[in-house]
Amino acid sequence: MRIAVVGAGVVGALIAQELTRYEAEVLLFDREPEPGFGVTKANSAIVHAGFHDEPGTWRAKFCVQGNALFPRICAELGVPFRQIGAFVLAFSEKEEEVLRVLKDRGEANGVPGLTLVGGEEVLAREPWVNPKVRRALWAPSVGITSPWVLAQAAAENAAANGAELHFCEEVLRISTHHGRVRSITTTRAVYEVDAVVNAAGLYADRLAALAGVPFPTITPRRGQYILLADTAEDLVHSVLFPTPTPLSKGILVLPTVDGGILLGPTAEDLFREEREATQTTRDGLAQVLAGARHLVPELPVTEVLKSFAGLRPEPEGGDFVVGPSPVRGFYNAGGMRSPGLTAAPAVARYLAEEVLVPELGLRRKEKFDPVRPPIPKAEDLSEEEWDKLIQADPRWGRIVCFCNRVSEAQVLEAIRRGARTVDGVKFRTGAGFGLCQGSFCTARILEILAREQGVSPAELSLRGPGSEVVVEWVRP
Ligand SMILES: Cc1cc2nc3c(=O)[nH]c(=O)nc-3n(C[C@H](O)[C@H](O)[C@H](O)COP(=O)(O)OP(=O)(O)OC[C@H]3O[C@@H](n4cnc5c(N)ncnc54)[C@H](O)[C@@H]3O)c2cc1C
Repeated sequence: MRIAVVGAGVVGALIAQELTRYEAEVLLFDREPEPGFGVTKANSAIVHAGFHDEPGTWRAKFCVQGNALFPRICAELGVPFRQIGAFVLAFSEKEEEVLRVLKDRGEANGVPGLTLVGGEEVLAREPWVNPKVRRALWAPSVGITSPWVLAQAAAENAAANGAELHFCEEVLRISTHHGRVRSITTTRAVYEVDAVVNAAGLYADRLAALAGVPFPTITPRRGQYILLADTAEDLVHSVLFPTPTPLSKGILVLPTVDGGILLGPTAEDLFREEREATQTTRDGLAQVLAGARHLVPELPVTEVLKSFAGLRPEPEGGDFVVGPSPVRGFYNAGGMRSPGLTAAPAVARYLAEEVLVPELGLRRKEKFDPVRPPIPKAEDLSEEEWDKLIQADPRWGRIVCFCNRVSEAQVLEAIRRGARTVDGVKFRTGAGFGLCQGSFCTARILEILAREQGVSPAELSLRGPGSEVVVEWVRP
C-alpha cells in the first residue's frame, strides 16, 4: 500500500507520522525545501482550548481533542510546549455577555476548567493589563508552542519510522482510473499510489481540483504581527484575548515559547489569487498596535524585533474539510484555518484510525518509535553540561549566533536533520532569531551550509528558490 501525503505543514507532517505506525509506504511531498514553510510558519502558535468554535463543527471537535493530545506529542517529539492558560478580557457589560456565551460554548465542546474571574484577579496576575478590565474568562488548558518545530519534528520522526520525504517537489497532476486514485505526477517523477492525502494548506482546493474532487474555495485571510524581543518577556504571562468578533479572535498579546511577546494578528480578507501576499502594511501594523494597546496600554514599542504576516486558508463554509472524497483513495485534510495547528494531531489520528485504516485495510507495524530527541539549546543546559559537550567536540564552543547562543555543533545537527536553507537552520536552532535578526550570523550559516552540502553559497537561499542570499563569493 503506497500513500502520498501532499503538504508538509503541521497537518501533513503529523498525518505522515501517524501513518508510519502502519504497514504502508508513506511518501510526504512538499514543493518547499523544508517542512513547515507554508501557513505553519507564521501564526499565533496558540494551542487553543476550544471555546471559540461552534459545537458540532469539526473545528470545535478537533480543537478540544488536539489540545488534549499536545502535551504528550510535544514531549515525544521534543517540541516546546507551555500550558500557560488564557484570559479573554471584557471591558464593557456587552463584552461580559460575550464571556458567558464563550463559557457555555466551551463547556458544550468539552473544554475543561473554564471560569469567570473579576478584573482585580486579572490585574493581580497580569499587572500590565488595561486597568479598565471588568471581567475575564480564564481558560487553563490554553498553551503555546512552536508550530514549525512541530512540523519539522513530525517529518523527521516520520522519516525515522520509514517515510520517504520529497521536498522541492510539487504535485502537478493526479491521475484517476474508474473513480479511483492511480498515480501522481510531480516536478520530478510519476509515482503509482493507492491513496493521496490532501494537506496542501492554502492550495488544498487546487490540489483537490487536480483529482476532480469538489472542494470549497479557499480565500486567504491575512494576519499581521509585531514581535517584541525577549527583553519584554515579563510583560504578560498568559495569552490575552479581547472578546472575539464574528471575523476573528481579535488582536492578542501573548508570550512566545522563545521568550518574546507577540502582538496580533489582523484579519484581512484578500482576493483568492493573493495566496502569497504575506507582506505587512502600515495600516495593518497600526491596527495591531492599537488592538494590543487596548489590552496592554503601556507596550514597550522600543523592543520591537520584527513584523511579519501569515495567511489563513479560509474555506467557503468556514469548517475544516476532513475525510474521504467522491474519488476513492483521495482524502482531505484541508481548509485548515485557525485552530488548525491545535487540531492537527487529532485530525491526523482521526484520518489514520477512522478513515484510512478501515478503508485501506492497514495493519499496525510491530516497530514504531514516536520519540524524536530535540536539538539541545543553550538555555536548557547548565554551564557544566555545556563544558562537557565542548570537551567532547570543540564545535559546541564555536558560537555562530551570539544573540541566542547557538553553536556550530547545533547548526550541524540542524543540517543533519534536514535543514537546507538559512531559514531551515534558523527555525531549528533559533540562530538569527535574536536581537540582530541574522545580521551577524547569516553569512556564517551560509558558509557552514555550503561546506556541508559541497556547493557554493551562491546556490543557497534564505527559504528556497527565488530567495538566494549572495550573488557570488568575492573573497574565498
Ligand atoms: C494569522 C494566523 C494565525 C493563526 N493562529 C493559530 C493559532 O494560534 N492556533 C491554531 O491552532 N491555529 C492557528 N492558525 C492556523 C494554523 O496556522 C493552520 O491551520 C496550520 O498551520 C495549517 O497547516 P497546514 O499543514 O494545513 O498548511 P501549510 O503549513 O500551509 O502546509 C501546506 C503545505 O502544502 C504545500 N503544497 C501546497 N500545494 C502543493 C503541491 N501541489 N505540491 C506539493 N506541495 C504543496 C505547501 O508548500 C505547504 O508547505 C493561524 C493561522 C494564521 C494564518
